[in-house]
Amino acid sequence: MEQKELLEKLNKFTRRELTEDEVYIFTVTLCDNEIDRDNECFSRKSLEEMAEKFIGVTGIFDHDPKGGNQTARLFCTEVVDEDRVNSVGEKYAYLKGYAYMVRTSSNADLISEIDGGIKKEVSVSCSAERQICSICGEDRRVRACRHVKGRKYDGQKCFVTLDGISDAYEWSFVAVPAQVCAGVTKKSMETESDIQNTEERPEQEVQSENVQEKRTELEGKIRRALMLKDSEHKAAELFENVKDMLELSELEELGKNLAVGKMPKNFTADNSAYMMRGL
Ligand SMILES: [Zn+2]
Repeated sequence: MEQKELLEKLNKFTRRELTEDEVYIFTVTLCDNEIDRDNECFSRKSLEEMAEKFIGVTGIFDHDPKGGNQTARLFCTEVVDEDRVNSVGEKYAYLKGYAYMVRTSSNADLISEIDGGIKKEVSVSCSAERQICSICGEDRRVRACRHVKGRKYDGQKCFVTLDGISDAYEWSFVAVPAQVCAGVTKKSMETESDIQNTEERPEQEVQSENVQEKRTELEGKIRRALMLKDSEHKAAELFENVKDMLELSELEELGKNLAVGKMPKNFTADNSAYMMRGL
């Protein structure tokens, strides 16, 4: 896409018209349809859905709650098909995003880092209505099945396809392992662990792993929501200190409140986990 065309699209999102010198435009690979290290993948259709939903969405550059909040905005997206197949034999496709930042003295270093290719790994957080098991076809958001992602069943590795993207929350350059929102944080970097175990696990073990997964997801979701709301990251920092003291139900409640845009009223840097319990 030409610079002029990009600027035109970008200026639909700004209060006043910005010139080429005032903005920094860069592209990111948001996600693809390859099976990732969590043994999950997006369907081609979900990439299309995300392309639409991610326009205008803010990205975070710094997951460190102690760092300043630096953000960029996606103003254009497209699904790009490549002339090769992914590991399950489907045509490889990825979601490309065009993002901008307004150049300031405080983000000059960050811009050089992006230019230099240092900050590369991107994760997206969105919610998928369906999470389909590749072995039995069960939608795991409706009912957990007994298959374990990454394990092999009759020589077929179990993975989960994410489908029906209902919301796109944010995207970020990853500095901490992130698991987010309604079960989905996807990274564009690929690594694979191949677990060669075909045994089915006892129900209890499946349940306790599900609880841990859920906690991790919720914690990521809350951390990001707090970082977006408070540019000094005080709330996010506090959350890091107290999250282990919260019950799963309390995390769920907090996540729900943040998702509808409510900043919990008791959530300030002076508070402790005990006050959060009263939310
Ligand atoms: Zn299954």
